Amino acid sequence: MRFAILGGGPAGTQAATYAARLGVQVTLVERDVVGGAADLWDCIPSKAMIATGGAVSFLGRTEGMGLAAVEPALDLERLRQRVASITSRLRESAEAILTSQDVEIIRGEGRMTGPHGVVVDTAEGRRELEADAVLLSTGSRPRIPEWAPIDGDRVLTTRDAYPPKELPEHVVVIGSGVTGVEFVHMFRSLGSGVTLIVSRQQVLPRKDPEVAAVLEEDFLRRGVKLMKGARATAVDRGETGVSVRCDDGRVAAGSHALLAIGSLPNSERLGLESAGVEVDAGGYVPINRHCQTNVPHIYAAGDLSGKLPLSSVASMQGRKVAEHVAIGHTVSHRHLNYDKAASAIFTEPEIADVGLAEADAFAEGRKVRVTKVPFAATAKALINDDARGFVKIVSDPATGVVLGGSIVGQHAAELISMVALAVTAGLRVQDIVESMLVHPTLSEALAEAAE
Ligand SMILES: Cc1cc2nc3c(=O)[nH]c(=O)nc-3n(C[C@H](O)[C@H](O)[C@H](O)COP(=O)(O)OP(=O)(O)OC[C@H]3O[C@@H](n4cnc5c(N)ncnc54)[C@H](O)[C@@H]3O)c2cc1C
Repeated sequence: MRFAILGGGPAGTQAATYAARLGVQVTLVERDVVGGAADLWDCIPSKAMIATGGAVSFLGRTEGMGLAAVEPALDLERLRQRVASITSRLRESAEAILTSQDVEIIRGEGRMTGPHGVVVDTAEGRRELEADAVLLSTGSRPRIPEWAPIDGDRVLTTRDAYPPKELPEHVVVIGSGVTGVEFVHMFRSLGSGVTLIVSRQQVLPRKDPEVAAVLEEDFLRRGVKLMKGARATAVDRGETGVSVRCDDGRVAAGSHALLAIGSLPNSERLGLESAGVEVDAGGYVPINRHCQTNVPHIYAAGDLSGKLPLSSVASMQGRKVAEHVAIGHTVSHRHLNYDKAASAIFTEPEIADVGLAEADAFAEGRKVRVTKVPFAATAKALINDDARGFVKIVSDPATGVVLGGSIVGQHAAELISMVALAVTAGLRVQDIVESMLVHPTLSEALAEAAE
């Protein structure tokens, strides 16, 4: 079985490693960096910079911990080295794992020439491959509308900001979804002034309003300007700054503008027509529950598949594809249920959720039990001098099965794992309540919320 993979992000590398382990002969084609956009531009650099921002904000609260006040000074060069070192270590370890599994890595841009043919343009020339199965995992890129004159200097996409050449004095962030709010938090905690353009009346329009409200409150407390109900229509670049014009006539001025208004799939130039692979109106490649496209031996995974744009989801899809290619079915016989994917927003406080949200249950008219505990009642939160936020658990009132949960507060992205396990394994609230947890920990709030 010869398996060719186009794109070495989380979906591609996970599929390659796992398929090779199952005895498949794998070739991975990557035009840029093994680890993908996830490691190079998206998940990792943003979280590395947010962690530095978190250190700044922690040092701003030392007095609450019984220490004298500290004035941290940002060193952009050190920050740049820190981000570069993390991404290169991840790349090296991803490559080492692949080579140890005998995965052939071809560096170059690949495309399909027919249902089984792949051609790769490399620095050394053209390589042609024949494959029994193919995975398309070429990811996505930031969406740039024609009114945004991106220059990588003052008008930025998320890929120009790790870190920027200079810390913006005042950045206007366009887009208040997950990526937008993470960048607001990142720049604000590093010391920039920030204006956030919010097209609706709520940041994070798809999230539970109660969760979004906690974040908005925190942004306002930290001096972030929220421009609600405004849609950006133009960015004008001047000598020393930018002006972002909105559809209602309002203008947001700043030293820089950053665009975070979604992404587009990398499906062009992949030769999909020659392979007979269908693409939807948005350019995504539709897949079935095995991640197969309309051509059964050609799979798609990750952002390209138009499912949840999360690295964790891409990796899991890659794993399922590997199983399907190697043995024709998924080992656990458990298909991916995208409704059970945990996700987090790395702001301050952090926000994480999984499974059924209270607002969605309400909208569907579904009867659920919702229990909520504020961190203010948890010893460890007081010890950490950060009692913001809450834990909310949604369960089935008849069976006690955990259906979902939201956590707002410090380490929410870590804490949600227990709820994610409960949702995936069909555990009951009683299972959480009866776990004998470590005291004092933030996890105790979960057990209390499950009570
Ligand atoms: C700012 C930001 C922060 C994010 N943070 C998180 C986070 O914290 N957690 C999370 O779970 N998700 C996060 N995401 C989403 C996550 O980055 C994506 O869901 C994930 O990268 C998708 O993985 P992928 O395997 O589909 O593709 P990618 O990671 O995009 O990798 C695709 C690879 O394919 C290569 N490629 C493309 N075309 C070709 C070709 N023709 N030939 C060869 N190679 C090709 C590219 O060079 C790239 O390396 C974030 C996204 C953004 C924008």
